[in-house]
Amino acid sequence: MRRTSALIAGGGPAGAVAALLLARHGAAPVLLERSRGTPDALCGGFLSWRTLASLRQIGVEPDGHVVRRVVLFAGGRRSESPLPAPAIGLSRRRLDAFLLEAAQAAGAGVERGVTIRSAEGRTLHTGDGATVVGETLFLATGKHDLRGAMRDADPGADPAMGVRVRLGPHPALTRLVGDAIELHAFAGGYGGLVAQEDGSANLCMALRRSRLRAAGDLPALLRVLAVECPALGERLAYIGETPTIDAIANVPYGWRARATETGVYRLGDQAGVIPSLAGEGMGIAIASAIRAVAAWQRQGAAGAIGYQHDLARALRRPILLAGLLRTLAEDRRGSTLLLAGGRVPWLVGRAAAWTRVDQMPAYQS
Ligand SMILES: Cc1cc2nc3c(=O)[nH]c(=O)nc-3n(C[C@H](O)[C@H](O)[C@H](O)COP(=O)(O)OP(=O)(O)OC[C@H]3O[C@@H](n4cnc5c(N)ncnc54)[C@H](O)[C@@H]3O)c2cc1C
Repeated sequence: MRRTSALIAGGGPAGAVAALLLARHGAAPVLLERSRGTPDALCGGFLSWRTLASLRQIGVEPDGHVVRRVVLFAGGRRSESPLPAPAIGLSRRRLDAFLLEAAQAAGAGVERGVTIRSAEGRTLHTGDGATVVGETLFLATGKHDLRGAMRDADPGADPAMGVRVRLGPHPALTRLVGDAIELHAFAGGYGGLVAQEDGSANLCMALRRSRLRAAGDLPALLRVLAVECPALGERLAYIGETPTIDAIANVPYGWRARATETGVYRLGDQAGVIPSLAGEGMGIAIASAIRAVAAWQRQGAAGAIGYQHDLARALRRPILLAGLLRTLAEDRRGSTLLLAGGRVPWLVGRAAAWTRVDQMPAYQS
């Protein structure tokens, strides 16, 4: 059995930022990540201005494709508004590599190719039969639950799923999308589309499982959506001959961890899951890691309970509002309302501000 003072499960944005900050504070953290190479989580790759500010706060500044506008498409119509501040489109492969390298450079032990099979409090059991115990555990396995630490979310009758497709790179696609984050609304779901650092575009959709069941399979679903949403169809023309389509089932949008146990800090998607059209999941992952390390510095393992309680409170409004916007986007009449609101920069600014996680404690390096 191995023992370590700070143990981190998962090397997405939440785990990597926690590792970086803990290493800077001399905690010699150990991070376990199942991907052998760089993780490439299913994600839209839109980093909001607030997410970028959180990263800047800890001295990290990733480059990406600059995004200045939000364009909404629904029922064959579109509306457009400037974003409150510039954001970026950045592939998760690039972002996660960047953050994990920063953590390693700061002195964190990053162990790749280690699959955690289950958790028992602060003890992790790995796929190769090893047991690792942390004085404090930072649980950051994101979209994937660990046996023994499952999120207690109710998937509902028609659960949400995430689907990702890469488009391009192609100069015509770059011209089409430009410096926008696009939101394509359709019955039972929506897709976010943004250009990335290499000129490709990332189309990431959140939709009800019933849409997939009705279409039969993922390629058939894309064909149906291309006809249903002409603007989306225009972009899907750049999908390529042999596309990789990634999917994840049962995304528990709206769930928040309201409690935890001493010594277990839940971060990122293991702390709360905001509907993805808000483009703030990574922001929450990073903010939760900053908050968790600040609480750990003050109170060590005992700080977990207060941290989780405070984070759940801070996540309440952003998650509720993003849930309301998601309900509107998935409904024909609701998306018309969204389209009208999308023409009013003040409203877009308010919705954008209220779906961010605020009140981050000032970080002291
Ligand atoms: C369809 C969709 C689109 C989205 N688009 C955006 C967007 O554009 N912008 C945005 O900000 N957010 C977006 N999000 C949300 C965002 O992806 C998440 O909120 C964010 O990735 C959470 O970060 P995390 O570090 O908690 O988890 P993750 O990013 O999921 O990382 C978890 C890490 O843990 C590792 N791991 C998991 N299980 C194990 C295990 N058993 N053993 C070892 N390692 C393990 C994984 O390999 C991964 O590297 C989107 C989500 C969905 C579903």
